[in-house]
Amino acid sequence: MEQRHRPECRYAETCGGCQLQNLTYPEQLAFKQRKMEALLGKFGPVAPIIGMKNPWHYRNKVQTAFGFSPERGILSGIYQASSHRLVPVSHCLIEDETAGEIIRTIRELMPEFKITAYDERTGTGFLRHVLVKRGFATGEVMVVLVAAETIFRLQKPFLKKLLELRPEITTVVLNINDKFGPVVLGDQEKVIYGKGYIEDTLCGLTFRISAKSFYQINPVQAENLYAAAMRYAALTGKERVLDAYCGIGTIGMIASRQAGEVLGVELNRDAVRDAIANAKRNGIQNCWFTQGDAGDFLYGMAKEHESLDVVFLDPPRDGSDRKFLSSLLAVRPKRIVYISCGPESLARDLQTLTEGGYTVEKAQPVDMFPHTVHVETVVLLSRKR
Ligand code: SAH
Repeated sequence: MEQRHRPECRYAETCGGCQLQNLTYPEQLAFKQRKMEALLGKFGPVAPIIGMKNPWHYRNKVQTAFGFSPERGILSGIYQASSHRLVPVSHCLIEDETAGEIIRTIRELMPEFKITAYDERTGTGFLRHVLVKRGFATGEVMVVLVAAETIFRLQKPFLKKLLELRPEITTVVLNINDKFGPVVLGDQEKVIYGKGYIEDTLCGLTFRISAKSFYQINPVQAENLYAAAMRYAALTGKERVLDAYCGIGTIGMIASRQAGEVLGVELNRDAVRDAIANAKRNGIQNCWFTQGDAGDFLYGMAKEHESLDVVFLDPPRDGSDRKFLSSLLAVRPKRIVYISCGPESLARDLQTLTEGGYTVEKAQPVDMFPHTVHVETVVLLSRKR
């Protein structure tokens, strides 16, 4: 790929989402490698980061904020992190292009169907966000319309027109968020077209994904990430495994093919429901999913002197917590595979685990979020003798 003449993002100055745009892709990878070596090198060896062949349009989930101002009319784009100003973005180079087209179509249809955009300052108006999720392998597309109120007067004719123009849409969900603040999705949700979730395939398994369930946003790199995690786990078919912070069950179900039994724990109810359905859908009979806090769950296992051979943990960006980590040290699995999207919290948690009797064997960074500063990493720890 020709680095010097790559397309310039026209929002580079205002958006702020891609912090590394001034670097060529190989320079970005070198930057991330140095960062991970500086943070993790003291614990153990860091393998060369796995980059992408084509680091563009990799995001399968696109979220756009809608806003209104008397001067500028209907706006759609992203909130600038530094100023909370809505920056109009309509052709993003890292997002899925189909999703971008769908969002543009929705914006164009708004006046005809009397759909107003939410005005943050006055708290009036209807549409706040549009979220699109696309299964790259299946082509299934979910559109989530996040509205400030339940009454959607021209819902039927609007849907009819939208589906006519964008037949690739397979399901539409209306989510109601009537609260002030930056949280995108509200609690209330109504499926207004299709089955209410999409399916995608990853590592040979099929997963259903609901509006609120977490799913890796870069499926190409997710396969590389999960493959590294499985290599590190070195399962032989007999192990008792925990998949902590399991989301819709991806890691646990992939591991279940080489394990005796897999337990999964996840806080989000919709994600657990998806995980249970996913195990069934794939004919997997050795996976069990529980809804709850991962720390509480593992604390309970430690108290009952339950044993685990391998523990995968894939917590949110802030990392794991004291309850989970101290319970992990009490259960003493042979191997821990830590998957992290937050390098700083990862380093902090590795400090706790190495002080508690584990050795970092190796670490594999994966470039899940090209052009941004974010890095995903898989780390293998083993119990000291
Ligand atoms: N392993 C999954 C999901 C990782 S994202 C995958 O690869 O797709 C992290 C997940 O942790 C999210 O699904 C989030 O809902 C969940 N989570 C956040 N806090 C949690 C907690 N305290 N206990 C259990 N799960 C939690």
